[in-house]
Amino acid sequence: MRVPLRQMIDLGRYIRARKKAGEKYFPIVLMLEPLHACNLACLGCGRIVEYKDTIRDQMPLEEAIGAAEECGAPIISICGGEPLMYKHIDRLTQALIERRRHVMICTNAILLERFVKKVAPSPYLSFNIHIDWMRETHDRVVDRPGVFDTCVKMIRMLKEKGYRVQTNSTIFRETSAEEVEELVRFLGGLGVDGMLLTPGYHYQVLTNDIYLKSDEMPYKFHKVRKLAEDYKIINTPIYLDYLVGERDLLCSPWTTVTRNPQGWKGPCYLITNGHYKSFAELHSSTDWEYYRTKQDIRCRDCKLHSGFEGTVALDFGTSLKDSWRMVRHYLS
Ligand code: SF4
Repeated sequence: MRVPLRQMIDLGRYIRARKKAGEKYFPIVLMLEPLHACNLACLGCGRIVEYKDTIRDQMPLEEAIGAAEECGAPIISICGGEPLMYKHIDRLTQALIERRRHVMICTNAILLERFVKKVAPSPYLSFNIHIDWMRETHDRVVDRPGVFDTCVKMIRMLKEKGYRVQTNSTIFRETSAEEVEELVRFLGGLGVDGMLLTPGYHYQVLTNDIYLKSDEMPYKFHKVRKLAEDYKIINTPIYLDYLVGERDLLCSPWTTVTRNPQGWKGPCYLITNGHYKSFAELHSSTDWEYYRTKQDIRCRDCKLHSGFEGTVALDFGTSLKDSWRMVRHYLS
């Protein structure tokens, strides 16, 4: 299975319950960024630029747990910055697992050995390891030699110890279809449980021209869609149709909300109008329909998975054909 069965069941129950309660704009994933500091400075990372003045800030533990309780999302993606540098990372992870939240730690893998001594495998815990292509490319993207080999060593260690491991790789303009295939085959051989392949996010604070434009996506994602037939790529087939340009999707930015030391970041993971003191304030200050319909200029080239996979999750069940494709995809 590409996604844990327990997570799929919990997610299905949660979405049904919120819809039954008449809610339209509810979160599915909380991107919890307890800090923005990192032990790398990767090409294309918007966070270390946007938050350079507050890079040393760390969220108090109670505030991080409180953010999860405040929004109620069943999936908590702990990211950053490098979340394994957060001084309360083990206690935060344990606290969220005790509350039966599905926790995903998005990491560059460098500090994993230290972390696994403190937190045992759990069906509620998985790791999402950032790996941007094969050795030479990855080490250039993260600007440090040896990090690719560390990632591979840590993936092997996590699998041996019984943790669930997935990877996250970003397709930039210069990423070749051949290298995408090479990495997917390589990670398949390592036995990773899932691979997420996404178009690079064009952060509003960055001006470099490394990101795919909408018209450049179809060719590269045709390749990804083909590979998804044989490998554990976790992008949904509906989202892949969107990336290759065969269908349109509206955005659902409220399904993935972001909380960092400055507050609730809105309107979405990618663009920042402000930071709000409470989850309720984020909602009352945001015109969700405006962003849903991609009217903002900053939405023009965006096909960010968190906005559009949220739409796919909310629409599950409305088309029998699409739903059957999704079930087959995840069970394979
Ligand atoms: S289209 Fe992209 S930038 Fe616009 S609201 Fe959705 S996720 Fe944010």
